[in-house]
Amino acid sequence: MWYNHTMCDTELTTEKILQSLPGPLLAWYRENARDLPWRRTADPYRIWVSEIMLQQTRVAAVLGYYARFLDAFPSVEALAAAPEEHLMKLWEGLGYYSRARNLQKAAKIVAAQGTFPNTFQGLLALPGVGEYTAGAIASAAFGRREAAVDGNVLRIFTRLTDCHDDIADPKVKRAVRDQLQAVMPEREADIRIFNQATMELGATVCVPNGPPRCERCPVRALCLGRIRGTAESLPVKRSKKERRVEEKTVFVLLRQGRVALRKRPDTGLLAGLWEFPNVEGALDEAAAGQAVAAWGLTPKAWRSRLWAKHIFTHVEWHMTGYALEAAGHGPPDWEWVDGAGLAARAVPSAFARYYAQAMERLGGAEINQ
Ligand code: SF4
Repeated sequence: MWYNHTMCDTELTTEKILQSLPGPLLAWYRENARDLPWRRTADPYRIWVSEIMLQQTRVAAVLGYYARFLDAFPSVEALAAAPEEHLMKLWEGLGYYSRARNLQKAAKIVAAQGTFPNTFQGLLALPGVGEYTAGAIASAAFGRREAAVDGNVLRIFTRLTDCHDDIADPKVKRAVRDQLQAVMPEREADIRIFNQATMELGATVCVPNGPPRCERCPVRALCLGRIRGTAESLPVKRSKKERRVEEKTVFVLLRQGRVALRKRPDTGLLAGLWEFPNVEGALDEAAAGQAVAAWGLTPKAWRSRLWAKHIFTHVEWHMTGYALEAAGHGPPDWEWVDGAGLAARAVPSAFARYYAQAMERLGGAEINQ
C-alpha cells in the first residue's frame, strides 16, 4: 500500500520521516502557534466545545460563537440544563446543527455521570464525538497518547511521505492513525500539543487551498512531497461522491407586517429549526400561486423573485424564492412573526437570502445571519 522509499532513492523512509517529525514540529508550534482561547485551557469541557465547533468550520468563524456559547453555558451542567431554543439561537449561522443537539445530549450524560470521560473510548461513546474528536480531546485535555487524524493531518502525512493512496478509503485513514500513534511523543506536555501542532501546520503552512508554503515549513527537510515535487498534487482523493441537488421553492409570505414561519421536523437535516414555507421543485409564478392557494392563502402582490443556493455536506439546495403579500391564515402550525419575532428564532443560514429579504420588508434593522 505504501510507497517504499529505498536508500538509493533517498535517505528518507516513511518510518524515518515520522520518527523525525515531532521534534521540529513541536518546537515550531511553541514559537508560532496562534493564540486561540481553547489553547489556553486544559478544561475538557472548553476543549470539547471548541472541537465540536471546529468540525467543518474555520477558526475565524468559530471565535465569536465560542465566546458567546461559554458565556451563556459556562459549565457542562449549564449546557445540560439549557432550553433548546436558547441553544439553537446561539448556534444560529454556524451550521451543522446536529452538533449543537449532540453537545447537549452529551452534556446531559456527563452531568449525570458527574465527571468527564478521560479515555479515548469513553469520549468516543459520547454523542457527536468521532475518532478524530475523541483523539483531540484525549490528548489536549488529558495528555493521553492518542493521534487525531482529519483532512489536515491526512494532507500533511501524504505530502510528507509522498503517499498516493486514496485518503477517502477508511483503511488509509486507519493506517495513518496507527503510524502517527506510534510516533506520538512521550512527555505529557508534548502529547498535549502534538495533534494541535499538526493541525496548525495544516491550517497555516501546508494549506488545503493553494500551494503549500514549503519555504516556511519546519519539516521541509523531511518532506518527500517537496523534494520530489509532488506535494501540490497530494493528497489523492478518488471516491468523492457527487452531492445530490434538490430544487426548492421558498416563500417569504407577508401579511400585515408579519412573515410566515414554520418549524422543521424533529429529525433529519436542520431538525427543529425555523424556516420559510417551501415546496419541492423550481416553480414558476403560476405554479407558485397555486402552492400558496393550497395553503389557504390568497396572493395579493408579488414583490420579488430571489434565487439562492446552499451547500450542505451531501446535498445542495437550489432555491427559487418569492416574496409576496398574501391574505388568509395558512396552516395552523405556522407562526406569523414581526421583525423582532424573526430575529428571536433560529433560522438556518441556508435561508439567509430570504431572511434578509423578510427583514427588509418588515422594516427590521437587525440581520443576524
Ligand atoms: Fe507541506 Fe511543504 Fe511542509 Fe511538505 S514541506 S509538509 S508540502 S508545507
